[in-house]
Amino acid sequence: MIEEKEIGPRIGAHKSIAKSIDLAIDRGVHSTCECLQIFTRPPRRWNTVELKPNAVQEFIKKSNAANYYDTAIHMPYLPNLASPDDTLFEKSVKVLIEEIEKMPILHVPYVITHLGSPKDLDEVFAAKRVAEALNRGLNHIKKSSMILLENSTAKRKKWGNEIEHIEAILSLVEEEHFIGVCFDTAHAFSSGYDISTSEGLNEVIDNLEGLVGKNKLQMFHINDSKGPLGSGIDHHEHIGKGYIGIECFRELMQNPRFKKFPMILETPKSDQIGDINNLELLRKFRSRS
Ligand SMILES: [Zn+2]
Ligand SMILES: [Zn+2]
Repeated sequence: MIEEKEIGPRIGAHKSIAKSIDLAIDRGVHSTCECLQIFTRPPRRWNTVELKPNAVQEFIKKSNAANYYDTAIHMPYLPNLASPDDTLFEKSVKVLIEEIEKMPILHVPYVITHLGSPKDLDEVFAAKRVAEALNRGLNHIKKSSMILLENSTAKRKKWGNEIEHIEAILSLVEEEHFIGVCFDTAHAFSSGYDISTSEGLNEVIDNLEGLVGKNKLQMFHINDSKGPLGSGIDHHEHIGKGYIGIECFRELMQNPRFKKFPMILETPKSDQIGDINNLELLRKFRSRS
């Protein structure tokens, strides 16, 4: 296992915090995760869930034991940092600040957010609005923490699906060194970035690094896609079972340029194939590099 880790990226999955936040670590360890992503609250509700001090202590203790040192908090789904509606925008910024404030409490370095939707307004408005949210959030951030912007699939509203949108936000953020990028393979593919071949993947990542800077990319979400290239369908599929196919994931496991990144599965949980199986497949690729 140690040898494998030395030759490829660390791989893990999104895990539930149901019943108690520290149980996410147990679930990660049980699924052989080497890194982790969590929600700290129900993703489709607005209410805050207080973190219980005992559970926080257990979370930190178990994280250390499992060597999960770069866990990411994914923002819940309801906040919209690009919303033109002032009430919704203010509620969204409040959630962003709450999640940012949990990073030092839980000893985790990342909060991941989507770029939201500006509804009927344009990209210029959207970039300004998200940058405003981030600038306000950054007043609450501590050292060694980062907010990661995740590329999304934008079906109806053309926002959040292009690397240029992330670049536009970054150019408006005051303390840019606190902002990084999380690249979701399924979102990129269904938005039209053809990463199904190793050449295609490397080109897209070259392009991304060219636009936002080489040090910005911090993490990958590794999901295959139920929707075809450019379909705008945001449905994740098990590794190698979707339209992206295995070549992309083999390249991610084997090319030394990707070695330093934590990679998180967000693949379906409800059927025969689980995180354990996807991780096993990825480890096969990784061990043959
Ligand atoms: Zn996401
Ligand atoms: Zn994702």
